Amino acid sequence: MREPLEIPVARFAPSPTGPLHLGSLLAAVGSYLDARANGGRWLVRIEDIDTPRVIPGCADQQLRTLEAFGFEWDGEVVFQSTRFDAYRATLADLRARGRTFRCSCSRKDLTGIGEEGGYPGTCRDGPAKAGPTSLRFRVGDGPVHFDDAFLGPQVFDLAACGDVVVERRDGLPSYQLAVVVDDAWQGVTRVVRGADLLTSTPWQIDLQRAAGLPTPSYGHLPLVVEADGGKLSKSARAVPIDPAAAPALLTSTLTLLAQTPPPDLASGSVKDVWNWAIAHWRPQALAGRRAVDVRVGRQPSRNHAENCGSP
Ligand code: GLU
Repeated sequence: MREPLEIPVARFAPSPTGPLHLGSLLAAVGSYLDARANGGRWLVRIEDIDTPRVIPGCADQQLRTLEAFGFEWDGEVVFQSTRFDAYRATLADLRARGRTFRCSCSRKDLTGIGEEGGYPGTCRDGPAKAGPTSLRFRVGDGPVHFDDAFLGPQVFDLAACGDVVVERRDGLPSYQLAVVVDDAWQGVTRVVRGADLLTSTPWQIDLQRAAGLPTPSYGHLPLVVEADGGKLSKSARAVPIDPAAAPALLTSTLTLLAQTPPPDLASGSVKDVWNWAIAHWRPQALAGRRAVDVRVGRQPSRNHAENCGSP
């Protein structure tokens, strides 16, 4: 008898630091369609460990917004704030494997890496300065390769990008650490998210390898930017998406995702939009698109290639 094919497991993982906006809607819609069009499960995880930035009540509001837009998630919502023991266990494991070191460098001390001279590795043999330290993960040698579902083959030189923080100076686990622990624990096999996280992916893959965790497949969706290619203006980013306009907003998000919804879809119901979108999902239309113009869904003028994230 043939083994049943593995069901893809995808997730949407908002941080409750502000209401969902157009960029978050695009990530949610892209990962939902990628999962549902492939018969997959779709999980929601609230990434609420950056406690100084978490806004009380925001997670609830985000979940209500997702419901109003017709998203149906599988299983219980996971809150990262309930998972500190798991993050501590992985930190202890990485430490025991000799892959971490205390570092006194601030983000400012390390600006410009990846551009000139690469990463200096200042504290690898001990903190260079007195005072507070973070814990960094010592990256492996050699480049990290992965095949992005939409952007194609990617290669990052982590030795030049630097050793990434896994425990912050304030003692909180970092985003990079928590996301790797939870993607593995939740059995996530497909990560579809915004291209702003493309430069995080090589660190996450390197962390998975060091901690003996599986690597999901990755696909990064175009960043929503202004017509000139610049960052989406603060005001546009801050505009919460209005559930009353859900069918129209979902339809324009499909256009931003290079899909071609029929014009009358915007005046139908949320259910109509999803039925059409799942049946007609064409991921190949996203090939090579790193950014998309917020007004028309066209490719903006500026390129958004980056070599390194902020370690
Ligand atoms: N929590 C992250 C954010 O809101 C997303 C994490 C991820 O998708 O890996 O930007």
